[in-house]
Amino acid sequence: MKIAEMFYSIQGEGKLTGVPSFFIRTSGCNLRCRWCDTPYSSWDPTGENMTVSQILDQAAQKPGRHVVITGGEPMMQGQLPELVTGLKNMGRHITIETAGTLWQEVPMDLASISPKLSNSTPTDHSTWSQTHEQRRLNWDVLARFARSALIVERQWKFVICKPEDMREVDAVLATVSQAAPINPADVILMPEGVTADAVQTRGSWLAEICRERGFRFGMRLHILLYGNTRGT
Ligand code: SF4
Repeated sequence: MKIAEMFYSIQGEGKLTGVPSFFIRTSGCNLRCRWCDTPYSSWDPTGENMTVSQILDQAAQKPGRHVVITGGEPMMQGQLPELVTGLKNMGRHITIETAGTLWQEVPMDLASISPKLSNSTPTDHSTWSQTHEQRRLNWDVLARFARSALIVERQWKFVICKPEDMREVDAVLATVSQAAPINPADVILMPEGVTADAVQTRGSWLAEICRERGFRFGMRLHILLYGNTRGT
């Protein structure tokens, strides 16, 4: 499995914000978000090929029980079931962070699903503008994430650039809710940005939208704490 990086840090996004966690970042993605903050796992996927047993050895050396499998797109990885089984056997709590366009039958304590809105589509790339746009919403896969009994808990994260993006959020939630009801408290809106200034500026109006709608506000704590740096 190609791994871009592994590190022990503070979870900066979602319901488990603030929880010390071991991050396993797989390399490779089937999308190319315009604002991707980990291009070394998507636009220019780098990393080292590691066996599942090497990854489990690293996880065993870290304190705490929370593990986050992220990317890139971890659901692309053929050895994901083997990795998840190994981590479950170690008693770990597993979050899988995914864009929700690909599915594998793996158990997850927390499925962190981040459907991509049109603000993610690169506008000036000869290959990826069209491919990304075609792939970014897979309704069948999103329905499986909404319904699967393999998932203990879910969160639906949206990256927001402008207030008008809420029309697309509502459309996605309305469609996915046909598969299974979505609790507004499981919906997290995050300001797009890779600097403290950008997330704070967008966060000021986005927090108001969350207050009005009953959604969670996700401030991207790791950007505030560390900036957009690898290994955090
Ligand atoms: S899905 Fe995630 S890793 Fe892939 S391009 Fe988008 S932001 Fe980057």
